[in-house]
Amino acid sequence: MPLYGALEAGGTKMVCAVGDEQGNILERVSLPTRTPEETMPEMLAFYRGKDLSALGVGCFGPVDLDRGSPTYGSILATPKLPWRDYPIVQRFEEALGLPVGFDTDVNAAALGEATWGCTRGLASSIYVTVGTGVGVGVVIDGRPYHGMMHPEAGHLFVARHPDDPMPQGVCPYHPNCLEGLASGPAIERRWGKKAQELSDRPEVWTLEAYYIAQALCGYMMILSPQRIILGGGVTHQEHLLPLVREEVRRQLGGYLVGKALDDLEDYIVPVSLSDNQGVMGAVRLAMDALAR
Ligand code: ADP
Ligand code: ZN
Repeated sequence: MPLYGALEAGGTKMVCAVGDEQGNILERVSLPTRTPEETMPEMLAFYRGKDLSALGVGCFGPVDLDRGSPTYGSILATPKLPWRDYPIVQRFEEALGLPVGFDTDVNAAALGEATWGCTRGLASSIYVTVGTGVGVGVVIDGRPYHGMMHPEAGHLFVARHPDDPMPQGVCPYHPNCLEGLASGPAIERRWGKKAQELSDRPEVWTLEAYYIAQALCGYMMILSPQRIILGGGVTHQEHLLPLVREEVRRQLGGYLVGKALDDLEDYIVPVSLSDNQGVMGAVRLAMDALAR
């Protein structure tokens, strides 16, 4: 059975793994993300000599996913400056001589769940991560959706809550986007403590649910996904999901109807692959690259 290399490339760590067609992760290491000059050789050393058939990369962005573009497979205007304009796909192809599948980190996670997790068998789904940033991966007709470049739905503009004590969001680009108002760093800025230390403060979580729900209503009305997965560090607060569901129902105002909406517990769900969804999605990207 063929083996696949998988890389979940993040701004703080690179998770390198080997997986099979069943989505089993057979081996993995986590390397700190330093410069390409330092980190690429370490990653290559992990993948070499393992008889891999292809590599899949789910990458922090923004990235160029347009196969017709001269910079296809590069990381674009990232704040991680040493990686800006880095042609990561080309470098892996040259160094390993393997087909390389490539997508955003969140599209990979959405695809991992859609292949082996809680959105398996559904044609459409989205994966929303609320962590250091907010990102959204979109699967439509069973495939990651790119569009013009790729969705950046974490930066969806939301209406501020009139009682929000923080005067504006933490996103350097937008005063009132979801990431700027609801990411882990936004919570920390607003309340002066890390999100994980605020479990017992109900006002923190009702406000958080208010913002996340607005975005989910937007995604539902535009994309009509068959299921929504909520992941990321902030969603480790188990009381958050019920609040989000309740707030989605309230904000929709009875407009959208259907079986899924009668049972929001089965519609807005937590991750099912124990935070392996990203790396498993990268395995699937590798499988698809080989099949091409
Ligand atoms: P990243 O987004 O960097 O990949 P995470 O998804 O773990 O990593 O997100 C990190 C953010 O999530 C931090 O802002 C942190 O405060 C927050 N976070 C991590 N664990 C928890 C938790 N148990 N409860 C609430 N917030 C958390
Ligand atoms: Zn923004």
